[in-house]
Amino acid sequence: MNEACFIPEPVLAMNPMENETEKNIESQASIAIASIVEEVTNIKQEKKRQKKKKKKKQQLTLKEFEKMKEEIEDMKQARRCKVCLDESSNRVFLPCGHFICCSGCSEKIADCPLCRTRIIALVKVNNV
Ligand SMILES: [Zn+2]
Ligand SMILES: [Zn+2]
Repeated sequence: MNEACFIPEPVLAMNPMENETEKNIESQASIAIASIVEEVTNIKQEKKRQKKKKKKKQQLTLKEFEKMKEEIEDMKQARRCKVCLDESSNRVFLPCGHFICCSGCSEKIADCPLCRTRIIALVKVNNV
């Protein structure tokens, strides 16, 4: 009986510690799993978000392309010589600073067609 009593004692003493360790491992494992699950969910959401962003960007790009085409056409129109409506403007009038005339027309006029300021100098603009 003495022996039988002696054996369970250390087992009993060991058990709470083992339980504690097991619990610790369990809780640590569950925390780790939870964080992994969260990470995976985040990655999935991020991918979804990126997909959505990509889609939006593509739509925007198409819109932007149309807009850019319009803007380029507007710029071409804006750069056209306001006198002959044919050549591109390439002269800036001084002192008024208007950029509305081609080289041929700018030499034929004395005043700026836009603001009527006397032209005292022409600045050649090189096409970019
Ligand atoms: Zn012209
Ligand atoms: Zn002017």
